[in-house]
Amino acid sequence: MDCIFCAIINGEIPSSKVWEDEVCYSFLDINPQAKVHALVVPKEHIPSADAICEDNAAVVAHIFAVIPKIAEALGLSGGYRVVTNIGEDGCQSVKHLHFHILGGEKLSENMA
Ligand code: 5GP
Ligand code: ZN
Repeated sequence: MDCIFCAIINGEIPSSKVWEDEVCYSFLDINPQAKVHALVVPKEHIPSADAICEDNAAVVAHIFAVIPKIAEALGLSGGYRVVTNIGEDGCQSVKHLHFHILGGEKLSENMA
């Protein structure tokens, strides 16, 4: 399968690692949209949040249990935003589930 995030997880494409465990991998976004911008992805290829179901929900629960640890490692004590884009209207460009972690500054109040 031709997936850029699977290639990053496998080490075929270099990335700036923030966190790794048996379930997920976190790395800095190559094109940051905030002073601090990391991504966290499941190691399992899940196409988007629209593909979350009972069978893989534990992976997502794990990611959300780890996000506060990633945020602490990134120094986001003032708060942060977690975003996931889904499909064409959601402007999802990489079809492997990922959560953006944005912070390091006061973010826009606009969500869309
Ligand atoms: P999406 O638009 O799908 O929600 O977000 C995809 C994100 O992946 C974008 O913010 C983009 O900058 C990031 N991205 C795409 N390719 C790479 C890459 O090769 N390395 C890293 N670190 N980030 C990438
Ligand atoms: Zn993938």
